[in-house]
Amino acid sequence: MTRPDFDVIVAGAGAGGAAAAYYLGQAGLRVLVVEKARLPRYKPCGGAIPRPTLARFPFDFTNLISAAPTAVRFTFSNLPYVDLPLPDRPIVNVQRSQFDAFLLARSGAEVLEGVAVSDVAEGVSQVRVRAGERSLIIFNLDNQLKIFIFRIIIRY
Ligand SMILES: Cc1cc2nc3c(=O)[nH]c(=O)nc-3n(C[C@H](O)[C@H](O)[C@H](O)COP(=O)(O)OP(=O)(O)OC[C@H]3O[C@@H](n4cnc5c(N)ncnc54)[C@H](O)[C@@H]3O)c2cc1C
Repeated sequence: MTRPDFDVIVAGAGAGGAAAAYYLGQAGLRVLVVEKARLPRYKPCGGAIPRPTLARFPFDFTNLISAAPTAVRFTFSNLPYVDLPLPDRPIVNVQRSQFDAFLLARSGAEVLEGVAVSDVAEGVSQVRVRAGERSLIIFNLDNQLKIFIFRIIIRY
């Protein structure tokens, strides 16, 4: 049986994909991240991240943090606003292009950029992912555990 090219292929190198790639790599899996944009790609986002999220990674994010707000203002149209004080500064702001690239670089995953995942085909004995001109094998169907992981990832 042909050896799989990768154990897992992650579509998208956003924060979600990069974090998934990191944890899957930590679990000993061979991971490919396929990103349809060129990296680093701009992401429209406030970039507000709770500190407990950062604490899930063994990295020093200090150089990526541009602000740590002391309050959040809720406002709409001309209505009176409400300020919620954040004395412990539990949220920080980052530039997503930098943050996502930082995580991806530390994931240990192989990266294919400027290529979109266009199809996932589950055959009799293999699962293949089409990314641009490439057709990559991720699972041989004799390994039920990997198929289980694959389905979870596709679902979420
Ligand atoms: C205006 C705005 C402000 C926001 N502010 C905040 C905030 O302050 N804090 C917060 O936590 N969240 C915020 N969000 C939400 C946050 O941006 C998203 O929840 C987050 O980006 C999701 O991360 P992700 O990695 O799942 O997806 P994304 O960051 O969107 O990454 C998905 C990646 O997949 C790639 N892709 C898509 N299809 C394919 C394909 N077929 N093949 C290969 N690659 C593909 C895309 O190019 C993209 O790079 C905001 C969102 C918006 C729109």
